[in-house]
Amino acid sequence: MNDQALSMRLQQVAAHVPAGARLADIGSDHGYLPVALLARGGIVSAVAGEVALTPLRAAERTVRESGLGHLIRVRLADGLAAIEPEDAITAISLCGMGGERIRDILDSGKARLSGHERLILQPNGGEQPLRLWLMENGYRIVCEEVLRENRFTYEIIVAERSGPVIYSAEELYFGPIQLQQRSPAFIAKWQRLLRLKQQSLGNLARAQQALPEQRVQALELQIRWIETLLATP
Ligand code: SAM
Repeated sequence: MNDQALSMRLQQVAAHVPAGARLADIGSDHGYLPVALLARGGIVSAVAGEVALTPLRAAERTVRESGLGHLIRVRLADGLAAIEPEDAITAISLCGMGGERIRDILDSGKARLSGHERLILQPNGGEQPLRLWLMENGYRIVCEEVLRENRFTYEIIVAERSGPVIYSAEELYFGPIQLQQRSPAFIAKWQRLLRLKQQSLGNLARAQQALPEQRVQALELQIRWIETLLATP
């Protein structure tokens, strides 16, 4: 297992793991991320947590074949329950899951967080509720990225506990750092989403049954936000 074998998505995630970290990769599946980072000496130890048996076995195989079993613990556990105090974890990655699931894992595992870990999160959708959890729990978003691979758009959100932080509704929706940086991938994402949301609104308007008013209003608000974002140079 080496960096070349990582998807571009996981390579970008790896780039946010601090050098010398003790990493907990929760929902590790095949275990590629911690093994690649250990193989290049980027981190000193790792825990790969998995809630399901088939991916757990895949992670165990990756670790066995890498010869790095002395540096990485593969554990069957739900969420942050994979982390033990003696692991002295300094970075946690949660990647390739919905943002709501990542939020729920963080929330139900709060007792396992020391507050000194860097969180490297790669949600597949559901970024807004995840950012809301981060804000409500005193995490500042220190880096954000949008990337596109194999016709899918991914976001990476990196956060560190900082004390109280306040984000506006638009910052929670688009991402506070994305809003400042406005990368081409970010703009392209919202151009695509604007078209989809306009189509959904059109479909709702043409629907025969009574319109779900709250859904229409939420969509209209999102469309206004996106149009404003895209109209701003
Ligand atoms: N993190 C890898 C990546 O980004 O390529 C694998 C992503 S895979 C789509 C999501 C993995 O998260 C699955 O293997 C699933 O079993 C695991 N998972 C889901 N909920 C979990 C939980 N509560 N605790 C631990 N693992 C979980």
